[in-house]
Amino acid sequence: MNKKIQSALISVFYKDGLEPIVKELAQLGITIYSTGGTQKFIEDLGVQVVPVENLTTYPSILGGRVKTLHPSVFGGILGRRDLETDVQEMQQYKIPELDLVIVDLYPFEETVASTSEEKAIIEKIDIGGPSMIRAAAKNFKDVLVVAAKKDYAAITGLLQSQNGETTIEQRKSFAAKAFETVAHYDVAIASYFNSTNEDVEYFFHSETHPKIMRYGENPHQQGVFYGDYDKLFEKLNGKELSYNNLVDVDAAVQLIADLTPSPSPKERGEMSDEAVFAIIKHTNVCGVASRKTIADAWTVALAGDPESAFGGVLVTNGKVDEATANAINEIFFEVLIAPAFDEAALSILKSKKNRILLQLKELPQVKTQFKSVLNGVLQQAIDEGSYTDWKEEGGRPATAAEKADLEFANIICKHLKSNAIALVKNKQLVGKGAGQTSRVDAVRHAIEKAKQFGFDLTGAVLASDAFFPFNDSVQIAYSAGVAAFIQPGGSIRDKDSIEYCKENNLAMVLTGMRHFKH
Ligand code: 5GP
Repeated sequence: MNKKIQSALISVFYKDGLEPIVKELAQLGITIYSTGGTQKFIEDLGVQVVPVENLTTYPSILGGRVKTLHPSVFGGILGRRDLETDVQEMQQYKIPELDLVIVDLYPFEETVASTSEEKAIIEKIDIGGPSMIRAAAKNFKDVLVVAAKKDYAAITGLLQSQNGETTIEQRKSFAAKAFETVAHYDVAIASYFNSTNEDVEYFFHSETHPKIMRYGENPHQQGVFYGDYDKLFEKLNGKELSYNNLVDVDAAVQLIADLTPSPSPKERGEMSDEAVFAIIKHTNVCGVASRKTIADAWTVALAGDPESAFGGVLVTNGKVDEATANAINEIFFEVLIAPAFDEAALSILKSKKNRILLQLKELPQVKTQFKSVLNGVLQQAIDEGSYTDWKEEGGRPATAAEKADLEFANIICKHLKSNAIALVKNKQLVGKGAGQTSRVDAVRHAIEKAKQFGFDLTGAVLASDAFFPFNDSVQIAYSAGVAAFIQPGGSIRDKDSIEYCKENNLAMVLTGMRHFKH
């Protein structure tokens, strides 16, 4: 049903962008009601406006906490124009109909981001604003609601083209947006309150402000980040990092740091002797390779599992050049992290506006990890280093090429969820099994993946995050062509696997360092 707007209530925090809509309302002869600051802004435009106090018969009280919370205002928004009893009551109490409600809420998130003073933050919890938005959205049959500054232009155009009339579909669609706005607002407030609970205060640096995320791992979960990633990255392109993005970016940065000994990301960006490229999915690496050029490293990393790469988080320790950017541009990915980018590479990669490009400035210095369990928090030192020992216990010493692959595979395996197995050939991850409930399953899965993408495992090496309790894993891998193994050792039955390697002339390195990752 079409409705012609006769009256509007405007109460906005930020006044910029309001002028065209106010002028349009005046042009259409619509009566405008408004609150203190907004009223003054409208008057300054030379447009007639009725103070909301004329309806409420109260001034704004309690330092602005109560401005519009009054039956005359809410009755005017919520009254059903086609219900006789509502109409009678509105007449009886002299409540005017309010057909359009425009609100821009107190900037709660902005305040949280700019101060840690609780009193100031609490005062930026808008009460009247969300109430008016909810009321107007509920009564969309009669009322049009505009709950966000970004909609001003659209609404001005609509009023202009439809001569102050709106359709029921249009009002319902604005109502849906309005409820989304209020829901997001309330989640932000709830997240802030949770952040001041004692059990999470521990995570909370006094100098860092909690960053409220759109949501957590899933849309129905709240999410907050305590920290400052701007210190580590310069975001060159793309949307806000999500909760899941951050988890994967962390995994990506930890992996690339481990695969890049010593130089800082900045120095690394200038180096071209050997580049590593890795593709991360849900914290696990699904493709990684080391090559002389970054373009080759990318091609070879992707070839390891082109299927899993879709939607991944990409990381490299080299400077991204034009050829590499063209190749990467072919696939859909969420985030690319690199210490440096060529101008030409950047303009290619920026072709998609949501794609997140992060220039890594420095590596995270945090050496402690936290994890919530039951009603407490676990803390541990990060898993630094990849081996404490290098004992060659198999049927023969590893060749130089195998050694390079074993070291590479061992680091990759450290970054996979347990139980983890990594198969590497010529500095390329050719198969992996991660997050499996049995080690043998991880081996089987790694082999299956390698075969799926056409790899010949003859001469490949295998890394395991923990010891082999039996020799079955070694047997299965050997049948597939694997020639050298790396594992921490420490099982009372280590000798079973070692004996098997001796019998079959296979190399086996024991590192003395387990890398469980749960
Ligand atoms: P103004 O600058 O016009 O004085 O105030 C506009 C702001 O006040 C808007 O952000 C609006 O959401 C908010 N507001 C309107 N009514 C109330 C109320 O009754 N209580 C509170 N806390 N905020 C209100």
